[in-house]
Amino acid sequence: MTMKCDVLTLFPDIIRPVLEQSILKRAREKGLLEVAVYDLRDFTEDRHRTADDHPYGGGAGMVLKPEPIFKAVDRIRSCGESLRLILTSPQGRRFTQSVAREFGRETRRLVFICGRYEGVDERVREGLEVEEISIGDYVLTGGELPALVMMDAAVRWVPGVLGDPESAEADSFAASLLDYPQYTRPAVFRGFGIPAVLTSGDHEAIRNWRRRQALENTLRKRPDLFDEVDLTDEDRQWVEDLRKETGGR
Ligand code: SAM
Repeated sequence: MTMKCDVLTLFPDIIRPVLEQSILKRAREKGLLEVAVYDLRDFTEDRHRTADDHPYGGGAGMVLKPEPIFKAVDRIRSCGESLRLILTSPQGRRFTQSVAREFGRETRRLVFICGRYEGVDERVREGLEVEEISIGDYVLTGGELPALVMMDAAVRWVPGVLGDPESAEADSFAASLLDYPQYTRPAVFRGFGIPAVLTSGDHEAIRNWRRRQALENTLRKRPDLFDEVDLTDEDRQWVEDLRKETGGR
């Protein structure tokens, strides 16, 4: 399957270089990711290619005009494929690993609308059946970084993109669990060694150690996630022992 994306932006040059690197580049080369970047100024009609204007009611800053966005969406729609329209917005539903998975398995084209300045004319939200998605509770200058963040996280779920098909499943959050700690060579660095089990060659022991480290990591760093973890009886016992050992800390 191919994840198909369109990005509508006033700053296409923020998007394009990132598509030329690493996983996003390789996924595109393998035909697993397709991204079309549209400059919203190409959908304006005046001599100055105006895509933004002052807000009605006054106030600071500029607002993205609705016409170029509607026109760009009409152009993409005219290809006949069904679309899922995403309006990047700090006011939207929070982007999480489960939304990334959902996007990575999406059969419709994902159309990312990147806002700028004070945001996007409200009629885009009212008239285009967009989903507002936020990448976190902070305000960025534009929707380009959020669109890139979402494409990067989503493409990892497209079968064939990661070398090991289990990698995405093993990443943090996939099972409400943070990842276990990773080590690579050298075995001793500035006096710090590595856990002996990792060089024991005992795969069962390594698997158990990793599971426990992931549980401990989640418990310590993100206790809010821990209630969602699917625990085995063995996990429960181990967590109870850990809590006793650390006095509930
Ligand atoms: N005035 C707007 C508000 O408070 O909701 C913020 C506008 S922001 C400076 C400009 C654009 O950046 C937004 O329209 C949106 O496309 C994007 N943006 C900013 N923060 C974002 C976030 N956390 N998640 C997704 N998009 C964001």
